[in-house]
Amino acid sequence: MKNKCKKGRGILYAASALLLVFSFLIFAASCGNKNEDGGQNGDNTGEVDAPQQETSGAAGQNGGQGDSSDGGGNGEERVSFFAAGDNIIHECVYLDAMSAAASLSSGDDYFFDNMYSNVRDDISRADVAFINAEGPLDPDARPSGYPNFNAPREAGDALVNVGFDIINLANNHMLDFNRGVGMQGTIDYWKTKDVVTVGAYESEDDYNDIRVIEKNGIKISILSYTYGTNGNSLGTDTPSLYIPYIDDSEIERQISEAKKVSDAVVVSMHWGEENSFEPSGEQKRLAGLIADCGASVIIGHHSHTIQPMEWLEGKSGNKTLVMYSLGNFLHTQVNSKNLVGAFVNFDIVIRDGEVIVENPVFTPTVCHYTANTNVLDSLDYYKRENILIYKLSDYTESLAGEHGCQYWTPFTLDTLKGYVRDTVDPEFLPEG
Ligand SMILES: [Zn+2]
Repeated sequence: MKNKCKKGRGILYAASALLLVFSFLIFAASCGNKNEDGGQNGDNTGEVDAPQQETSGAAGQNGGQGDSSDGGGNGEERVSFFAAGDNIIHECVYLDAMSAAASLSSGDDYFFDNMYSNVRDDISRADVAFINAEGPLDPDARPSGYPNFNAPREAGDALVNVGFDIINLANNHMLDFNRGVGMQGTIDYWKTKDVVTVGAYESEDDYNDIRVIEKNGIKISILSYTYGTNGNSLGTDTPSLYIPYIDDSEIERQISEAKKVSDAVVVSMHWGEENSFEPSGEQKRLAGLIADCGASVIIGHHSHTIQPMEWLEGKSGNKTLVMYSLGNFLHTQVNSKNLVGAFVNFDIVIRDGEVIVENPVFTPTVCHYTANTNVLDSLDYYKRENILIYKLSDYTESLAGEHGCQYWTPFTLDTLKGYVRDTVDPEFLPEG
């Protein structure tokens, strides 16, 4: 990645103390430009280097060519991308994490990492991994589940530990807990992590400082919008904070700006109707608008169900990959239609100067839990425990039979597979 502040260059000036001082000043000024070394100091603003991870598979064959790429005609550059949907820290999720921490005697209050253990390699293998962290994470406030979420800090730590690099914060629950105060606490927490956050900003200027990840010589802008915040507004305590609500002209303007500073634009959309397997007319209209603006990928979430993935053609003949909803990744909802989520892998490639999205694969997941019929949660449902995300391909009839959701909406393994069959075009599904 870029390193314009190499100490070695100082030796050129060793013959002259005055020149050395002069050069130091030049270098200090250069290093102070956040657009050139943003992200190195925990500041989430500006252009940032994605945290280093192993590249693998097809991406590893061609990626990792350092600073040489300008998207020009020499070979190709490739970034492998992983996207997951809603990470919802319901009350039973953090209570289960509390039990896990107690059994580990680690001294931590919560331990969430194991909930991702079956998909951890998939996350960390990708060059860049995105997730929607639903609701605030304000370490100064107590944890809370539905309907006013606030996640413990360890829930965020787990996302970092398992390999997520991009954390989306534009969602309808972001002002659930102490409104702007909770959102500011959430922003402050994520600033302590080596990740890029999108969708919750400290000011309008911060929002306009488009986040650009540079990886394997490809610059990718990440934009993010939400349909709303459950009727909550920021309030008077935090007047400068900024939440990007869905707005046609803003989306058009910002994609146009993003294209000036990056090779590819990825747009996160928190949208659609809850519990629907079909995208709404409004989702389709907005997806068409975003495709016409020339974005490469749309990552949709919020419906708590999976929705289709498809290619759209923008008005310039460009292709846009749209996933209308990736469903729930981590949660304890109690309807079988909410149990199947997904992660999507795709590659962003620059070949002969052209930006292409390749190899999209939609991998269905199941968030498994058991129900403890001896204990009720605060909403009088059986407490859900032993939470663990599976790939649907690894899920069994026997596990389905043990799923705590059987108490509310009985289902079989084929019920879950049917949601996928009826929703996702086979061209996107993994083989087998
Ligand atoms: Zn939502």
